[in-house]
Amino acid sequence: MTSKNKLNIIAGPCSVESQEQLLTSTQALCSLPQVGLIRAGVWKPRSRPGGFEGLGEQALIWMQELQNSDLRMSDGRPVRFCCEIARPEHVDLCLRHNIKNAWIGARTTTNPFMVEEICKALRGTSMTVMVKNPICPDVKLWVGAIERIQKVCKEQVVAIHRGFYTYDNHGFRNAPLWDIALDMRRHLAETPIFCDPSHMAGNRLLIEPLVHMALQLAYDGLFIEVHHAPDQALTDAQQQITPRELLQLLQNIEGINTNTGDTLDNALAMLRQQIDNIDHDLLHLLAQRMTISRQIAQVKYQHEASAYQPTRWQQVLDNRLQQASNEGLDQHFVKELMEKIHAESLRIQIEK
Ligand code: PEP
Ligand code: MN
Repeated sequence: MTSKNKLNIIAGPCSVESQEQLLTSTQALCSLPQVGLIRAGVWKPRSRPGGFEGLGEQALIWMQELQNSDLRMSDGRPVRFCCEIARPEHVDLCLRHNIKNAWIGARTTTNPFMVEEICKALRGTSMTVMVKNPICPDVKLWVGAIERIQKVCKEQVVAIHRGFYTYDNHGFRNAPLWDIALDMRRHLAETPIFCDPSHMAGNRLLIEPLVHMALQLAYDGLFIEVHHAPDQALTDAQQQITPRELLQLLQNIEGINTNTGDTLDNALAMLRQQIDNIDHDLLHLLAQRMTISRQIAQVKYQHEASAYQPTRWQQVLDNRLQQASNEGLDQHFVKELMEKIHAESLRIQIEK
């Protein structure tokens, strides 16, 4: 489903609302050059009862009709849809209507029991599955859900980063917490990752800056909500953009981060050499620091003092944070770094 060095776009309405709305969105989106798949929610997870919960199988019937129609994607292939699957029955219904691409939503990824149930339904099918990050910032749940799906799916599994619900969302509907996505990519280096700026933003004005961040972090694609009349949408009205706005967005980002070849490597060679040298020195200094920790452990032992000395640790931390501020380094980063170094030094002293 994904291709290298090209930004893949999956776009479409948050929910299928009517046959006409599905047709209008599909006609507008399928001709856009980078759009390879159309998203459209069929079963909608609503936090509170009483809202629009999706049209279920009726929506799948309309999607299948459009897949069998004369409509074509810009590369000439027939139109293809994906939707959210949240229960094993959803897998069966999708396949019955020839919908072969689906995503596991953020609420489902949070629940390994349900992921396991869905896996049973997926086993032996030819469905392509994308896995959204869980609602809570727990990388293991995300990695675990992807691994479970990988065991049963023949097709490549794709990760979708849609942001996390945290106490302070920093102005977003779901805080991006890019570090957690980087951590996921360290665990599953071969898994392509898409950014869903719509559910991160919760507001269409924040979408473009998020897309730029995703491009800087070399994401493989975007998963983005598009509606022909966003303000009238039955779900997620504030974050959907029009097909025209999507086209404009794609034009604005054209050419960014497409250079991954020799010219780039040559331009970066000198700077990378400097980074390598500095890392080498950093590790050498750390090794020296730990040797001194071992000597300190001996002295404390001879004087029957405990390894952990809270007053001294507080002085060290205050001093390093003061230096961090003088050097223009981020306080939070330096605090975490010093805490890690101190923990290792204590470990060495205790296990001496
Ligand atoms: C959606 O994509 O419409 C959706 C409900 O997503 P999430 O699981 O990210 O909330
Ligand atoms: Mn949505």
